[in-house]
Amino acid sequence: MDRYAVIGHPVKHSRSPRIHALFAAQTGQRLDYDRLESTPEAFNQTVLAFAASGARGCNITVPFKFEAWQMAARRTARAELAQSANTLRFDAGGWWADNTDGIGLVRDITQNAGVALAGQRVLLIGAGGAAAGSLGPLIDTQPAEIVVANRSVAKAEALVARHQDGAVTQAQRAQGVRMYATDLDHAGEAFDVVINATASSLGGAESPVAASVLKPGALALDMMYGAAAAGFLAWAETHGAHGRDGLGMLVEQAAEAFTAWRGVRPDTGPVLAQLRTEL
Ligand code: NDP
Repeated sequence: MDRYAVIGHPVKHSRSPRIHALFAAQTGQRLDYDRLESTPEAFNQTVLAFAASGARGCNITVPFKFEAWQMAARRTARAELAQSANTLRFDAGGWWADNTDGIGLVRDITQNAGVALAGQRVLLIGAGGAAAGSLGPLIDTQPAEIVVANRSVAKAEALVARHQDGAVTQAQRAQGVRMYATDLDHAGEAFDVVINATASSLGGAESPVAASVLKPGALALDMMYGAAAAGFLAWAETHGAHGRDGLGMLVEQAAEAFTAWRGVRPDTGPVLAQLRTEL
């Protein structure tokens, strides 16, 4: 049986084993998907040992996505831009890495939520791994503007600069998306789409930015899900926006990894519906 796992710290609450089990059942693939807890010191050794045991690949979650990116011999363009990876495939000719977070986010917004991003004004809050993985795929959807707001503004500036310099593909440069970095107090006003890619919800905060960022009827998505997202979702609804949690993104990023590993794309709709009933 082909083996995979999600590696993180902590990892015990990860829904990834359940999602991949549902994908495998749906597509008739035979695989085993586990959780592997690792301390930061032992991360490289944990991945190397898992690969040496005959496993075929793994997902990487907080806080090891940068280390995973470093371990790969080959990387997709979007992983290169993000400088982080959430998916490794242990190919014999050299490990392959991808970052599927951003495409998962975009698919959830445009396909599951049915909200177009092209021509819209988008606020991306955060400049950590999740925001870094999302910015390139967001640019690809051709919004009119993307503002990246972060508590540590220098990190937001570095992220934006990286996406504006030579690393950005010709296609992205040609799209001419307006993009700038700012701090949380100057995030701007009346965005069509607001994405919370910070860990602020974990501390019980409703939102890291003022409600004036929300245009009436805006989509306000927190990458968190379950109880952790409740405060942000209530904040969004209170201020006239449509709240959405990160569960759809989670399922979509998993589907992209599953496709890269197994060569078959699962139907995410039934899996997302099933997870919602289980949460
Ligand atoms: P990182 O640790 O890399 O980044 C954390 C980010 O949150 C930084 O921008 C940090 O700001 C900011 N932050 C932390 N605490 C606060 C606070 N109290 N107020 C304001 N900003 C704060 O984490 P990730 O980027 O990897 O993950 C972010 C969140 O997204 C996590 O909660 C994770 O669970 C979720 N996620 C969900 C996914 C999904 O599929 N649904 C996929 C990936 C992530 P600063 O730079 O100033 O420290």
